[in-house]
Formats: sequence, C-alpha cells, structure tokens
Amino acid sequence: MTSKQLHVAIISSPGIGHLLPVLLLGHRLATHHNLHVTILPVITTATSPALSQLLTSFTTNLSVIQIPAADISSISPPDASIVTQLCVMMRETIPAIRTTVSSMASRPHVLIGDIFATESWVIAEEFGIPKYVFVTGNAWFTGLFTYSPVLDMQIVGQYVDQKDPLEIPGCKPVRPEDVVDPMLNRDHETYGVYIKQAIGVALADGMLINTWEDLEPQSLDALRTNEILRSVINHKPVYTVGPVIKRHESHVLKNEVVEWLDKQPERSVIYVSFGSGGTISVEQMKELAWGLELSKQRFVWVVRPPTEQCSDGSFLKAGQSGGPDGCPSGPCGYLPQGFLTRTEKIGIVVSSWAPQVEILNHRSVVGFLTHCGWNSTLESITSGVPMIAWPLYAEQKMNATMLTEELKVAVRPEVLPTKKVVGREEVARMVMDLVEGEEGKGMKVRVNILKEDAKKAISENGSSYISVCKFVEDCWSRIK
Ligand code: UDP
Repeated sequence: MTSKQLHVAIISSPGIGHLLPVLLLGHRLATHHNLHVTILPVITTATSPALSQLLTSFTTNLSVIQIPAADISSISPPDASIVTQLCVMMRETIPAIRTTVSSMASRPHVLIGDIFATESWVIAEEFGIPKYVFVTGNAWFTGLFTYSPVLDMQIVGQYVDQKDPLEIPGCKPVRPEDVVDPMLNRDHETYGVYIKQAIGVALADGMLINTWEDLEPQSLDALRTNEILRSVINHKPVYTVGPVIKRHESHVLKNEVVEWLDKQPERSVIYVSFGSGGTISVEQMKELAWGLELSKQRFVWVVRPPTEQCSDGSFLKAGQSGGPDGCPSGPCGYLPQGFLTRTEKIGIVVSSWAPQVEILNHRSVVGFLTHCGWNSTLESITSGVPMIAWPLYAEQKMNATMLTEELKVAVRPEVLPTKKVVGREEVARMVMDLVEGEEGKGMKVRVNILKEDAKKAISENGSSYISVCKFVEDCWSRIK
C-alpha cells in the first residue's frame, strides 16, 4: 500500500449471494481504481466447498481476513428466518470485526458493509471513518427497502392484503404479492428485524448499488432527486457500481457439464438453477421434470434435495448452500421414475452446484430458468441469455416483475411458484416459447442490448466507472 492509496475495508455477511459481489467489487476497486482493499467476510461453520473455493480464488490484489461468525445457537431459535439469523449473527460478530479492524497494520480510511452489516456502522464511528452500504440487489429494491419504515407507518394491515400496489415515491409501484419476504407477514418477528435493518441502511454515508444507469433510470433518479425518498435516505449520495459480475474465463474451466455442452448444438440448451440456496417442493420438482421432458428441449438442471415448500431452505445449512458434496441422499432420487434414462440423450442433471457463469456463456445455452437472484439475473443479462423467471424468496419477485414487464427479457408462470405448483404443461410451454417461439427471439434481441449497455457501463469512462471515481473522490474529501 502506498501513502496515497485509499484503504477500503468491506464487510460481507455469509452466503455466496453477498460474498461474491463483495469480492468482485473489491477486486474492481483494487484493479481499476488502485484502491487498497481488505475484505472481511463473516464465515459460518456451514461454509460450503464452493464458498471456500471462491475465497481462495480472490487472492491477487485483495487482502481477505476471514472472521468466524459468532455462535448464535443460544440466542436465535433454529427455526428463525434467514434474515433474522443473518442480522443476529452479524450483530453478535461486531466485537470480532472490531478487534480485526483495530489490529490491522494499516487502518482503513473507509468502511463498506452489505445490507446485513449495518450494525458495524458503530465501528466506523468509533474509528472516525465514513461508512457506506453496498446493496448487492438493484435500485428498485433499494427504493422499497429504504422506504419500508415509512410504509410501516402509512399502511394498515398486511401488505399482501392491499388492493392497490404500494407506492414508492418516484419508483414503479410494487405489487403487494411482490413484496420482499420479511414484508409478507407483519406479525412475524422478521418484519421488525427488517425495518430496523432498513433504518440502518439509510444511516450510511452513501450507497453503492449493483446496477447501472441505463438499466434502472427511474429508480436511480428517484433515489437521487425525489424529495420524499431523498429525505428517507438522509440525502446521501447514490453510486452505481454494476454490473459487478464474475468474468467468464473460458480457458480456466473444463468440467463434465461444460464438456457435455460442447457436444450440443448452438443455442439449444435450457439451464435450470435456483441459486446457491433455493429449493423447491417434491411435487414441484416432479412437475418441473415432466415439463422439461415434455418440451423435448435440451437441458442442464442443477438439482438440490426438495423441501416442503419453495424456499431459501438450504442457505445456512452445512454442506448445502452450494457445494458439490451437499446431497448425501442424492437429490435425483426425487425425480420421476425413469426420468434420467428417458432424458439421457437431451439432458444432464447436476447435483447441487454447477459452474454457472461458464454455462451461461456457453454457445449452446439458449435460456435460463432462474430463481431471479440478482447475481444470477446479472449473469444471465451479461451473457445475453433470456430467462424463465421463477422467483422463490428475498426480493426475487420484484426482480421477476422487472425482467418480464419492464425489461421484457423473461417469461414467467402465470401464478407465482411460491403460491401454486407450476404444472408440467406450463413448464413445457415456457421452455418451448423461449427456445423456439417468436417471444424468445424478441427477448434475445433485448437481452443483447442490455448486455452491451452493461459492458459499456463498466468500461473506462462508462457510467458505473465514473460513478466509482466519484465515490473515491468523495471518500477522499470526507477524510481530509
Ligand atoms: N451459483 C453457481 N452455481 C450454482 C448455483 C449458484 O455458480 O450451481 C452462483 C451464481 O452464479 C451466483 C450465485 O451463486 O453468482 C447466486 O447468487 P444469486 O444472487 O443469484 O442467488 P442467491 O443464491 O443469493 O439466492
């Protein structure tokens, strides 16, 4: 580190969906903007092989100091929601983060935390350094999230029972059924945790969002100029840093799936995956299998053991949140009898984990049936691959609505998969529309335009590049 270098420490909560963009943002800040970056990932005992591999793959240009998560088993009920568990875990880990920061040979000038790390603002205040939140989701979600404490005062009854969409000043309204998971039931303990989290996010000195200007002009404009929304985020600056995505490096990886894809015709394969932790029900798994078979289209399906209902069920569980060894009982056992044999010429089933970015960038992949996690969404867009939007949890329903109704790069089931099992005929129809239909062709054209926009945004002098330069400039002016 040189004396002129800005030193940024970035705290990440556990889970690939947050840690991956944190590492990628850190890498971008170090490589393109010459910052000294220390990543402080909070790591649980459930750390999967994929996550460990991820951590070791980011050693150039970055310092990574892993922080063991506090044991919360005695204070958080085992059936608490993921949001509650993560918030409690991050809060209880503050002393360990503080000790780490204070023992660093060179003290950071700036602290960045993801949306579960807001309790760590207290550390920034103790050290007298600015604190920024990195929203790994999009700007529309940021609008809803930060405005939730106001909705909490305005709306009577459950959000999901409202007749009209929820108005977020300056942004597109949010359909009641699309609200983020913690808003689904205001009587649940998670809701209070979520509102507190939203208030914490707004206390940061600024926000970095994993999006870019051309993708979400309306929501970004609202966060920057709408007086009501501005007052909610305390008139803090909003920087676009996206898309923060993993670069596809074709020479690096050759594995069984990629080798299988190499043998398939161009633009013929549907990739099916529900992120690092998404699970579906036994019944849904069977219908999805039958649907793929009926469609007669080629597929790669990352299969995980089913749960009672669609959920984020395997997120913090040892060995399951994205690890090739995560399925001791063999998830394929839940597929319809004979499915694997009948589809062996057109499909391949992978247990729990696959090299997603490599798959999406493969010439034979034509579409992505996705749970609409924001990282998966960005990876699909930046690979020019249209989607079947199958949202499960978190803010994925909003993402699905954005993809289908606004950006028009995805189709989706008529009824939310979290409300009703999607039948085999509907699955087959969506797959065929995407692979063979006119709709698929239109989506492909639009997604390629977004792909180019994304590339421009992060290239030198693109909007996200300039926004990061502004962030760095603002950091310097705050610490001088
Ligand atoms: N991922 C992967 N292989 C898999 C499943 C997931 O590489 O089999 C990666 C995926 O590329 C993405 C991340 O895990 O970068 C999942 O993040 P996302 O925001 O899409 O969903 P989450 O897992 O947080 O719900």
